[in-house]
Amino acid sequence: MNNGAEGQMRVVSSGKEITGSARIVHVTQRDAVLRGLKTFALTVLAALATIIIPGVHFISVPGGLIAAPIVGVMVFMKSRGAVKGMSGSFTCPQCGGSNVLDYQEGKPPYYGSCPTCKSPYQAFPA
Ligand SMILES: [Zn+2]
Repeated sequence: MNNGAEGQMRVVSSGKEITGSARIVHVTQRDAVLRGLKTFALTVLAALATIIIPGVHFISVPGGLIAAPIVGVMVFMKSRGAVKGMSGSFTCPQCGGSNVLDYQEGKPPYYGSCPTCKSPYQAFPA
Protein backbone atom coordinates (compact mmCIF):
# COMPACT_ATOMS: atom_id res chain seq x y z
CA MET A 1 0.00 0.00 0.00
CA ASN A 2 1.30 3.41 -0.91
CA ASN A 3 -0.18 5.83 1.60
CA GLY A 4 0.96 9.28 2.67
CA ALA A 5 0.90 12.78 1.29
CA GLU A 6 2.58 14.05 -1.87
CA GLY A 7 5.88 15.70 -1.07
CA GLN A 8 9.50 16.06 -1.95
CA MET A 9 12.53 14.16 -0.78
CA ARG A 10 16.17 15.13 -0.69
CA VAL A 11 18.77 12.42 -1.20
CA VAL A 12 22.41 12.98 -0.24
CA SER A 13 25.20 10.65 -1.34
CA SER A 14 28.91 11.42 -0.87
CA GLY A 15 28.43 15.18 -1.11
CA LYS A 16 26.10 15.01 -4.11
CA GLU A 17 22.46 15.82 -3.70
CA ILE A 18 19.28 15.25 -5.62
CA THR A 19 15.60 15.93 -5.00
CA GLY A 20 12.68 13.84 -6.09
CA SER A 21 9.00 13.42 -5.49
CA ALA A 22 7.98 11.27 -2.56
CA ARG A 23 5.03 10.22 -0.50
CA ILE A 24 5.48 11.30 3.09
CA VAL A 25 3.70 9.41 5.86
CA HIS A 26 2.95 11.39 9.02
CA VAL A 27 2.06 10.13 12.48
CA THR A 28 -1.73 10.31 12.77
CA GLN A 29 -3.53 12.12 15.57
CA ARG A 30 -4.70 8.73 16.86
CA ASP A 31 -1.18 7.28 16.94
CA ALA A 32 0.12 10.40 18.69
CA VAL A 33 -2.59 10.03 21.37
CA LEU A 34 -1.77 6.32 21.79
CA ARG A 35 1.95 7.06 22.15
CA GLY A 36 1.21 9.73 24.77
CA LEU A 37 -1.07 7.39 26.73
CA LYS A 38 1.49 4.57 26.58
CA THR A 39 4.23 6.85 27.94
CA PHE A 40 1.84 8.06 30.65
CA ALA A 41 1.00 4.47 31.68
CA LEU A 42 4.65 3.35 31.68
CA THR A 43 5.68 6.35 33.79
CA VAL A 44 2.90 5.60 36.34
CA LEU A 45 3.97 1.94 36.47
CA ALA A 46 7.63 2.91 36.90
CA ALA A 47 6.70 5.28 39.75
CA LEU A 48 4.54 2.63 41.45
CA ALA A 49 7.31 0.05 41.07
CA THR A 50 9.54 2.16 43.33
CA ILE A 51 7.07 1.76 46.26
CA ILE A 52 9.17 -1.17 47.47
CA ILE A 53 12.37 0.89 47.62
CA PRO A 54 12.72 2.33 51.15
CA GLY A 55 13.69 5.98 51.42
CA VAL A 56 13.19 6.77 47.75
CA HIS A 57 9.48 6.12 47.35
CA PHE A 58 8.52 9.27 49.31
CA ILE A 59 9.89 11.25 46.36
CA SER A 60 9.73 8.83 43.42
CA VAL A 61 6.08 7.82 43.72
CA PRO A 62 4.47 11.30 43.94
CA GLY A 63 7.15 12.69 41.61
CA GLY A 64 6.44 10.04 39.01
CA LEU A 65 2.69 10.52 39.30
CA ILE A 66 3.09 14.27 38.80
CA ALA A 67 5.52 13.77 35.88
CA ALA A 68 3.44 11.10 34.11
CA PRO A 69 0.80 13.38 32.54
CA ILE A 70 3.50 15.95 31.65
CA VAL A 71 5.71 13.44 29.79
CA GLY A 72 2.59 11.90 28.23
CA VAL A 73 1.56 15.26 26.80
CA MET A 74 5.15 15.99 25.68
CA VAL A 75 5.30 12.69 23.77
CA PHE A 76 1.91 13.46 22.21
CA MET A 77 3.02 16.97 21.11
CA LYS A 78 6.30 15.65 19.71
CA SER A 79 4.65 12.73 17.86
CA ARG A 80 1.80 14.73 16.35
CA GLY A 81 2.48 15.44 12.70
CA ALA A 82 5.98 13.94 12.83
CA VAL A 83 7.24 12.10 9.76
CA LYS A 84 7.15 8.36 10.27
CA GLY A 85 7.67 7.06 6.76
CA MET A 86 8.58 7.95 3.21
CA SER A 87 8.44 6.22 -0.13
CA GLY A 88 9.29 7.15 -3.68
CA SER A 89 11.82 6.71 -6.42
CA PHE A 90 14.84 8.80 -7.36
CA THR A 91 17.89 8.67 -9.57
CA CYS A 92 21.19 7.94 -7.83
CA PRO A 93 23.22 11.18 -7.40
CA GLN A 94 26.40 9.19 -8.17
CA CYS A 95 25.58 6.99 -11.16
CA GLY A 96 22.10 8.06 -12.29
CA GLY A 97 20.71 4.58 -11.66
CA SER A 98 17.11 4.28 -10.56
CA ASN A 99 16.42 3.69 -6.89
CA VAL A 100 13.24 2.91 -5.01
CA LEU A 101 12.79 3.82 -1.39
CA ASP A 102 9.99 2.51 0.80
CA TYR A 103 9.99 3.08 4.55
CA GLN A 104 6.62 2.83 6.24
CA GLU A 105 7.84 2.98 9.85
CA GLY A 106 10.77 4.90 11.28
CA LYS A 107 12.04 8.44 11.68
CA PRO A 108 14.10 10.15 8.98
CA PRO A 109 16.82 10.20 7.77
CA TYR A 110 16.49 6.94 5.88
CA TYR A 111 19.66 5.14 4.89
CA GLY A 112 20.22 2.88 1.96
CA SER A 113 22.58 2.16 -0.88
CA CYS A 114 22.21 2.30 -4.64
CA PRO A 115 21.65 -1.18 -6.14
CA THR A 116 23.70 -0.20 -9.21
CA CYS A 117 26.85 1.49 -7.83
CA LYS A 118 26.49 0.54 -4.12
CA SER A 119 26.91 4.18 -3.03
CA PRO A 120 25.36 4.73 0.39
CA TYR A 121 22.78 7.52 0.63
CA GLN A 122 20.70 9.36 3.20
CA ALA A 123 17.18 10.44 2.33
CA PHE A 124 15.08 13.09 4.10
CA PRO A 125 11.71 14.67 3.49
CA ALA A 126 12.45 18.03 1.81
ZN1 LIG B 1 24.26 4.63 -8.01
